[in-house]
Amino acid sequence: MFIDTHCHLNMMVTKKPDELLCNESFIIIEHIVNQAEQAGVCSIINVGTGINESLNSVAVARRCSHVYATVGIHPEDVSQYAHQSIQASLAPLRELLVHKEENKIVAIGEVGLDFFHTPYDKQLQIDFFKAQIELALEYQLPLTIHIREAGDEVMKVLEEYSHDGIRGVIHCFLQNESLAQTILSWGLYVGLDAPITYPKNNDLRELFKKIPLERILLETDAPFLPPQQYRGKQNTPAYIPLIAAALAALRDIDTAVVEDVTTANAQKLFFGK
Ligand SMILES: [Zn+2]
Repeated sequence: MFIDTHCHLNMMVTKKPDELLCNESFIIIEHIVNQAEQAGVCSIINVGTGINESLNSVAVARRCSHVYATVGIHPEDVSQYAHQSIQASLAPLRELLVHKEENKIVAIGEVGLDFFHTPYDKQLQIDFFKAQIELALEYQLPLTIHIREAGDEVMKVLEEYSHDGIRGVIHCFLQNESLAQTILSWGLYVGLDAPITYPKNNDLRELFKKIPLERILLETDAPFLPPQQYRGKQNTPAYIPLIAAALAALRDIDTAVVEDVTTANAQKLFFGK
């Protein structure tokens, strides 16, 4: 079996960001989860990106037996919370975290830094990132970390916490080899998504030939980043085996080996198994 370690089921079915899920949306999500299961993807980690999306993630996890949740505020969303203190912004997440077992919360995320879309408030993003790393340490959870146009700055923040026992994954890893080496040395994982199947991404393929399989997690980031043969369409967790097959072909090993090792990695990081 496979695990999709990073997916946005909520965003696959809602029309507007941050919209709370209605009953019809839950039914469509159950259908997506069943399709994934038929493709061998037996667990899905559904990622929060803001307060409402974290509430949605938990609601889906509580409803679908094979879905788990993460809660967090995405760097691109932090400006929505600039009118109040960071601790006030994180209070609704704490309410969910107090019951983390019942809410099936397996990580804090997605958090990180994103300097791609302008304008952005660099300091506010860094402050939210640090506060959420501290939340992960407090609740003994791993982090799902997002980096876009901000590799050096993310590394600077993570370095401050590298001796505090932080655990987690750099999700949708598209950075360079030296950054990969450093985060691996800190015990973090790298998330592999369908960009490995895109013709132009030769450097990424070269890099993923070298990263130890024991440190790779498979993820779709659905509805974004569909595999090459589905580009232009919505991505879905049922496509995880295609990412596994691409990695297996690249490394000249069986897809079953990729399946076994990456699933064991995910179980260790998110489920403590
Ligand atoms: Zn994501």
